Amino acid sequence: MGIRNTVVFLLAAVCVAAFTVPASGFVVATTGYEITSPVKVVVIDPGHGGEDHGATGPSGLKEKDITLSVAKALRNALEVRFDVRAILTREDDRYITLEERTEIANRARADIFISIHANAAYKKAASGVETFFLSFEASDNEARKLAALENNVVKLDTKDGGTVRSDLESILWDLVQTESHHESSRLAELVHNSLVEATGGENRGVKQAPFIVLVGATMPAVLVEVGFVSNPQEERKLADPLMQKRIAKAITEGIVAFGEDLYRRMGYVNIGSGYGRR
Ligand SMILES: [Zn+2]
Repeated sequence: MGIRNTVVFLLAAVCVAAFTVPASGFVVATTGYEITSPVKVVVIDPGHGGEDHGATGPSGLKEKDITLSVAKALRNALEVRFDVRAILTREDDRYITLEERTEIANRARADIFISIHANAAYKKAASGVETFFLSFEASDNEARKLAALENNVVKLDTKDGGTVRSDLESILWDLVQTESHHESSRLAELVHNSLVEATGGENRGVKQAPFIVLVGATMPAVLVEVGFVSNPQEERKLADPLMQKRIAKAITEGIVAFGEDLYRRMGYVNIGSGYGRR
């Protein structure tokens, strides 16, 4: 459950010399230990795939293709930024069930699960970024509708979709009490803020909704709607590899901030090159 406490202590014999106090004001560590991020494994889930196209933009751009491109850019950005293993739930245009996606994360003992999607609305002008974490109650009507839309693929997953809802309700009721629910909320906030700042997109907020793809994840899990493929301007932007890179970098910085926040709450202090105990 939660982030694994697999903190790696790299004994750095040369580090016993005095550290300078970083601008952030954290207390200088004198332990001679250097610590990497608590986030070791990230599972990235490119939404949809195969016969499930997701939403389609006015000029034909498919959500399943945007999500795969952004996911690959995110894997690259994460692995360049820090010592982390990033795993995709799909590497190509194939259909996998919502349950399989979280199973991949659980099997990999991931520290973070992040599902990438693109939004759609009847109003062409709708635009911006929304980030979700799992909850039984949707935060508003729009969040409820979006979850219903993203969950709709369950009809493909189960020949009789009948029991899925009631099972989902009981699981969700338990989940809202757990630690990972709180951590998911924090992760959603940090990823979202970073994404809004970097893309300049409209801030549609961090919301809660009953997304099936997030059910069963035993680690902090969020779903990011990176923009509206139904909006002609955003559709163009989302197709642009430079924008995809920018989105990936922003999500990466959100994940880095989440790791730092976690360390602070665990009682570690910033020693400039990493986090150490006082
Ligand atoms: Zn989607």
